Amino acid sequence: MVGRLVKLSVSVAIAAVDIVIKGLRVGRVPGYCVVINYHSVSGGSVPLLRKQLNVLSQMTRPLRATAASALEDGARYVAVTADDAFCSFTENGLPELCQRGIPVTVFVPTGYVGRKSAWDDYGGENRVGELVAAAEDLRHMAKWETVDFGSHCVSHPDLPQLSEAEAARELRESKAALEAIVGRKVVALSFPYGRYGSRELRLAAEAGYEFYFDATPQSVSSAIRGGLMGRVSVQPTDWDIEFRLKLLGAYRWVRWGSAAKRRVLSLLGRKPVPVVRN
Ligand SMILES: [Zn+2]
Repeated sequence: MVGRLVKLSVSVAIAAVDIVIKGLRVGRVPGYCVVINYHSVSGGSVPLLRKQLNVLSQMTRPLRATAASALEDGARYVAVTADDAFCSFTENGLPELCQRGIPVTVFVPTGYVGRKSAWDDYGGENRVGELVAAAEDLRHMAKWETVDFGSHCVSHPDLPQLSEAEAARELRESKAALEAIVGRKVVALSFPYGRYGSRELRLAAEAGYEFYFDATPQSVSSAIRGGLMGRVSVQPTDWDIEFRLKLLGAYRWVRWGSAAKRRVLSLLGRKPVPVVRN
């Protein structure tokens, strides 16, 4: 709770600075896009999610996360993603997005399709042991024009901990398996736990991915071009002000904070803990 309040306070300050800078700016103001990331949505959280999606529709223009596009000057965009393809999300959250015509990219750990998860990297109302959507459910979802799919590897591994051959296999085999299930080309990848290094970026490109997503917030300016993009984690239980600030990109400082922390830890010869919560 203290960490959440600290993050909220800093983000309020960032949003205030943004308003001042925007007011002082003369001429062109580039459009920007924030990518948000859901995990599970319990049945009881649907009313909260509906409120969030209404806010999202009022404040932003929804956009596909996995298609190159120019961002109109002065416009605010949001792209929605969901990691892990949990049934709670596909059954409770996805219909709400589809009804509103909001595009969403769902990242699937292909080795867990139709099985229960064995990881917990996102906090909130979620827990280990959530059921991942079955192949049949994914095929059904593929009929919706606003739903895209991305790989979340085969076994939801911490990729940098694997050998190069194992990491390459995770990236290659999950892409092929997902393409076989949904009958579409898969060009997007979400790094499990948001963990990657230069090796993982190279292997992902070699495997044929064009859009890679991690788990720290970022605002993308002017255009979606592919490559690496940050995301801010959202939960239906987020406070209204938290959610609005996330949509505004005010949590992007967490990316700088995480990078600084990694540098300090590496100077001290320690490895960062592979748990990512925004
Ligand atoms: Zn995950």
